[in-house]
Amino acid sequence: MKTDVAIIGGGIVGCATAYYLAKQGIKAIVIDKDPGVGLQASGRNGGGVRQHGRRAALPLAMESVKLWATLAKELDADLEYVRTGNLKIALDEISAESYEREFAWEYENGLDDVRLLTAAECHELVPGMTGRVVAGKLCSSDGIANPMLVTPAFARASAKLGVKFLLNTTVTSLLQQGTTVCGVKTDPGEIEARVVINTAGPWAARFTAEAGCPIIIGPGRSQLLITERLRRTYIKSWVTISGLGYMRPTHSNNLLIGSAGTRNDQYQCQVDYHSAAIQVRRLCNLLPWLKEVSIIRAFSGITEYTPDSEPYIGAVPGVSGLYVAAGFAGEGFCPGPLTGKILAEMISGIEPRISLEPFRPNRFAPSIGEGKTQPEVSYPLDKLLVAWKAVEKYNPELND
Ligand SMILES: Cc1cc2nc3c(=O)[nH]c(=O)nc-3n(C[C@H](O)[C@H](O)[C@H](O)COP(=O)(O)OP(=O)(O)OC[C@H]3O[C@@H](n4cnc5c(N)ncnc54)[C@H](O)[C@@H]3O)c2cc1C
Repeated sequence: MKTDVAIIGGGIVGCATAYYLAKQGIKAIVIDKDPGVGLQASGRNGGGVRQHGRRAALPLAMESVKLWATLAKELDADLEYVRTGNLKIALDEISAESYEREFAWEYENGLDDVRLLTAAECHELVPGMTGRVVAGKLCSSDGIANPMLVTPAFARASAKLGVKFLLNTTVTSLLQQGTTVCGVKTDPGEIEARVVINTAGPWAARFTAEAGCPIIIGPGRSQLLITERLRRTYIKSWVTISGLGYMRPTHSNNLLIGSAGTRNDQYQCQVDYHSAAIQVRRLCNLLPWLKEVSIIRAFSGITEYTPDSEPYIGAVPGVSGLYVAAGFAGEGFCPGPLTGKILAEMISGIEPRISLEPFRPNRFAPSIGEGKTQPEVSYPLDKLLVAWKAVEKYNPELND
């Protein structure tokens, strides 16, 4: 089989890349080991289309939010995208100070609809909180979309433009001639391609390593709890509460409760009901109305973390014909569509609209190898637990 571009992985990044390539008349094949597209993290995430809290990826997130504004029309699909705003609530001084630092950085870098909130303003936005609130931070242009709709919408729109999908098909290795990557090997056979794009999410590191460019990706696991439909709207936006995780309404007025990603060396997808119960108990102590609400579903997804919490995006150095976009540190849904567009444009020789310098695939290469001290992967749950220690000190009743 022959194509212009072979894409490893049919998550949001792979399917978006295929779509934007096809729009430029470039033939692409998307290969996924699963029986459908978006069955891994891309279809099992919080759906946050968020900018605040980003560091080097802030320009990518800001440009992404612009693209999301017209995406439903572009794909001719309802993506349930709404700019709900994104509120962060600090229950302790340490988190409040970190929000102030975030705010200063974001404002300086052009995110002009982010602002710091007083405790009273937080109480107004989230009524019924019983614990001690210190301060908050709000970004009004952040929003949410339904992850179960977005990747399939990209796949459908791509298929209409001629993209082929090989599902239930595992890529086993790259095809290389010297330093040129010229296709992939799969279970059923070889696919020759002018360019290979590695969007294999948490599984991406093996293909860059094969091409001589080791990257560090630590597989993680994040989970979500879904409540029954609420009879009243208590929460209108995405809300992150220091040390406790996040919540947001769904289109049908269920509440989605998410926790931070943790290490997951076995690439497992089971729900940890023990930690879920602790999280819900603490949230119920903060928001007593939650005690009356049933949780009807729980699921988890495999995320991918890096030492600096920034992704790898761009051409893989040392070889020709190989690109990678992976390691989104649990934040790849928001920038997924734009990343696909940028990759497709790069393949046509168009300069990326934002600097990809912080996302260089080889940025850790000098510290990987025998006898070297490799930088450690940073997992969000570790940060959440540190934040919880501070919350516990000031709000001990949340742990009752
Ligand atoms: C619970 C949870 C909540 C999250 N919340 C948010 C959020 O609110 N906002 C946000 O921006 N991000 C969020 N994320 C992160 C986001 O979902 C991911 O960063 C994003 O989906 C990554 O997309 P991807 O296309 O790079 O990877 P994936 O979705 O992981 O897709 C990779 C694909 O590659 C395929 N694949 C792998 N190896 C092979 C192979 N050898 N051969 C063939 N196919 C292969 C896999 O089957 C998979 O389909 C969350 C993630 C989780 C799990």
